[in-house]
Amino acid sequence: KKEWPKPPACRVITIANQKGGVGKTTTSVNLAASLAMHGLKVLVVDLDPQGNASTALGVDHHADIPSIYEVLIEDRPLAEIVVPAPELPNLYCAPATLNLAGAEIELVSKVARESRLRRALDRYDKEQFDYVLIDCPPSLGLLTVNALVGAEELLIPIQCEYYALEGLGQLLRTVDLVKSHLNPQLEVSTILLTMYDARTRLAAQVADEVRGHFGDIVLRTVIPRSVRVSEAPSYGQSVMTYDPGSSGALAYSEAASEMAHRGAGGA
Ligand code: ADP
Ligand code: MG
Repeated sequence: KKEWPKPPACRVITIANQKGGVGKTTTSVNLAASLAMHGLKVLVVDLDPQGNASTALGVDHHADIPSIYEVLIEDRPLAEIVVPAPELPNLYCAPATLNLAGAEIELVSKVARESRLRRALDRYDKEQFDYVLIDCPPSLGLLTVNALVGAEELLIPIQCEYYALEGLGQLLRTVDLVKSHLNPQLEVSTILLTMYDARTRLAAQVADEVRGHFGDIVLRTVIPRSVRVSEAPSYGQSVMTYDPGSSGALAYSEAASEMAHRGAGGA
């Protein structure tokens, strides 16, 4: 496989959208695997108590496993919880367990409650990685805020369906608040259209509307709806190794290539 350019410094990218089921986890895992397949070292931080990204990467995440919960709540170093994902040599995961469901409440009374992931990343040798991708839960609570404070880039997956843009204003307002108070470096760098169904006019209309609104930060590649994409997690694999020739795998590879080649500043 051809190698893609290494970024000059580690790119920390949060993948967020407070809607559930829009493809955040699928995008995190498959972009990560694509980048790893092209010579880049990647860490996926699972910030969703459901632990779907951990599952999809074949990483154990039962309740006794040291996880991102201990990092956020007990100041455990990231180095102690990061594990290799079995599927690819360059791919790593900071797993989430169900304990993390309590973190949303427990964080409220913690010092620097919005910056705990940031601090953990700053104390960690994150420069060993080319990319850190943070998979968020479907809410705008403190876990997602920690992800926004911890990253320089935000990638928003948007599902091509009728209510696609609803709620986006709320996400963008949260981004503005985080920018002005906690993390001035944060930029909405990338938008990815997911679960695109080429047979419907609606999908095309939503895609046009999103491109009209956000312009160049929308990746040219759209991710089609594909059964293989939805099957892969149950094998503890990304679709990139589960079925590399499938339309979903090819699209995620193309989207990851766009991201890697355009760099952090977009375009
Ligand atoms: P989120 O993390 O935003 O909640 P997921 O990535 O878990 O969303 O995706 C929601 C569901 O849709 C999952 O069952 C997933 O397998 C499925 N899915 C995601 N992307 C695709 C796709 N391109 N084609 C088919 N199914 C998909
Ligand atoms: Mg998810």
